Amino acid sequence: MLETTTAGSLPKPGWLAEQNKLWPAWRLEGEALAEAKRDATVLWLKTQEDTGIDIVSDGEQSRQHFVHGFLAHVDGIDFGRQVEMGIRNNRYKAMVPTAAGPISLRARAHAMEARAARANTKRRLKFTLPGPMTIVDTIADGHYGDKVAMAMAFAAALNEEARGLAEDGVDVIQFDEPAFNVYMEDVATWGIAALERAAQGLVCKTAVHICYGYGIKANIDWKAGLGAEWRQYEATFPVLAASSIDQVSLECINSHVPLRLLQLLHGKDVLVGAIDVASDEVETPERVASVIEDAAEHVPVERLFPCTNCGMAPMPREVAVAKLRALADGAALARRRLGVA
Ligand code: ZN
Repeated sequence: MLETTTAGSLPKPGWLAEQNKLWPAWRLEGEALAEAKRDATVLWLKTQEDTGIDIVSDGEQSRQHFVHGFLAHVDGIDFGRQVEMGIRNNRYKAMVPTAAGPISLRARAHAMEARAARANTKRRLKFTLPGPMTIVDTIADGHYGDKVAMAMAFAAALNEEARGLAEDGVDVIQFDEPAFNVYMEDVATWGIAALERAAQGLVCKTAVHICYGYGIKANIDWKAGLGAEWRQYEATFPVLAASSIDQVSLECINSHVPLRLLQLLHGKDVLVGAIDVASDEVETPERVASVIEDAAEHVPVERLFPCTNCGMAPMPREVAVAKLRALADGAALARRRLGVA
């Protein structure tokens, strides 16, 4: 019980990409880059195993960014047509590409890294994809004229890739939906439907990750204005509980999320964020264990999976390794205290 996992992304080594950036430039190109991506994937699998992570990931070593890594393999997107758009409800502005025609998956997006990861670990393997609502919040619409129709087109493309990943031997497919914490009404009216379309027919475990974003300034400023209690999850958890998705990954440590909201996820596995990715300060096992124990008051312990709040991509590598170890040690401590194996 209390098997550990991460939200997905891990820092890229200095020989692969620029450091401490959300959109790092690659250091290599062509076949040398492909080889370096494979090597970094294997290295992180070994590090996750050594630090005691139970359900491991490829660390997103083969993609530049969690949304655009997938979009690069999708037809119908004009990357030359960049538009400035206020994303996450105008929290920050970004230059985004345009959907200029019908959306379809050109060819498998992540087969190389999924197969490389599967061949190099016997542990359960998790793989992440961006969720449809977050994708349409990160791209301009020059074709559909309807946000929901565009989201459903991306969901179909995501589903095709997800089915391929499951065939590659991936055990858990997680869709990242930070937009679920921004457009709470849309989640109920079409966000869950788009997510379920993306996960349709998958026989492996399915998960959704909903967070308050990476530790960048725009997010930190936004969080400061959310008040003493962050209740965004209150609107989305009941609809998620009624959905076909198996697991929900959420932000917990150092956030103002009232833990009793976790009760709204009745029947789901809960990936409880016990590692803060917005701070380089490494948590003590004691601190991690206390977050797990607090969550265990609201979620059956057999449904709890200690996890990170969000991806660790922009973090110094040695800090990320120390935090993975703290996560595993904290889970072990919580197991002893709660008297579970
Ligand atoms: Zn996140």
